[in-house]
Amino acid sequence: MAQAQNSISKIPVGILGATGMVGQQYISLLNDHPWFEVRFAAASPRSAGKKYSEAVAGRWQLTKTYAPHVGGIMVEDANDVSRAAEAFKKGECSFVFSALEMSKDETKALEEKYAAAGIPVISNASAHRWTPDVPVLIAEVNPGHTDIIPMQKKARGWDRGFIAVKPNCSIQSYMKPVHALAQAGYPAQRIVVVTMQAVSGAGYPGVPSLDVIDNVVPYIGSGEEEKSENEPLKIFGSIENGVFKNAEFPKIAAHCNRVPVTDGHSACITLEFADKKPSLDEIKAIWAAYKGLPQEADLPMAPRQPIIYREEENRPQPRKDRDTDKAMAVTVGRLRPSNVFDIRFFALSHNTVRGAAGGGILNAELLKYKGYLG
Ligand code: NAP
Repeated sequence: MAQAQNSISKIPVGILGATGMVGQQYISLLNDHPWFEVRFAAASPRSAGKKYSEAVAGRWQLTKTYAPHVGGIMVEDANDVSRAAEAFKKGECSFVFSALEMSKDETKALEEKYAAAGIPVISNASAHRWTPDVPVLIAEVNPGHTDIIPMQKKARGWDRGFIAVKPNCSIQSYMKPVHALAQAGYPAQRIVVVTMQAVSGAGYPGVPSLDVIDNVVPYIGSGEEEKSENEPLKIFGSIENGVFKNAEFPKIAAHCNRVPVTDGHSACITLEFADKKPSLDEIKAIWAAYKGLPQEADLPMAPRQPIIYREEENRPQPRKDRDTDKAMAVTVGRLRPSNVFDIRFFALSHNTVRGAAGGGILNAELLKYKGYLG
């Protein structure tokens, strides 16, 4: 009885791209979410018209399965916005998480159609990250960027719909450590980052096994390095006249590599401070004390401690540390001086959870907390 009441009071949500790598993580993470319940699923025309259980048969990638009611949901064609609009009218879809893998132009146009139909879109795709009035949110870092949403809606003539996105998975592991230091008065001036990115970051079936087993691929397509270098500047930027103005610093040089790890993107970071330089102990204390709005508001998906420092000289490691605190915490280690810049350290985050579906859910919780959803 308590469960039925709970279910009725939950906000019904939809997943676009529900059958893919990130879509499956959304379905799985929302299994027992206290606020949201999956009631609508859409994917490509290949999956449309099948029950969700049939659409993912033989390609479900996670150890945790989907809720029984999700297995029975009829998958819709994500390109047919009228189906979601109908579900919205019937109270079966209040907003959508977008985890589509289509061309940038197609994704952009489609997400705008959903927003124009009154359905808020919380997206994982890169299509809208450079749209000047769309916020790129990391809930702990720039929660104030949601302030642009009323301006976006007004400029587009959207009454209820809007678009908010999350950044590339490759930057998740070091954005919070860098933000924590900036907030404490130690902004970074220049960063060199070398990423080691998991194969699940390429979706399913993703990188061919013969390319990646016993190997490292020193290139990730779709502008991964440019995304890593530029997206932080929008996230650290400010809103001016209804659009985002990028920060000028830190300047970032990124090398992005694909490695034979299933989940968990790692990064080696070498950082130069703009001005004052904290001691290594001070940095560890700043990271340990770092909290953001998600922690203060006790949002369900928020890690209790967003940055965890491991003192062991051989940690963090993807297999041992990626699942820390619902796979939502960033784990760092090996902080030491650099004889080129000021400091260097190693950072890890789970790419399909913190870097994708979990980060998207946390953004939705932030938006609900601020009154933009439901
Ligand atoms: P994926 O495993 O390839 O899944 C793609 C999803 O999009 C599937 O549900 C697929 O449906 C659907 N789709 C493909 N073509 C379509 C079309 N023409 N019309 C409608 N739906 C279509 O990709 P993914 O790794 O989950 O990534 C999804 C999005 O999240 C991408 O934009 C990606 O860049 C982003 N992202 C991924 C990660 C990660 O770590 N994987 C991290 C951050 C962001 P079918 O199953 O029916 O083909």
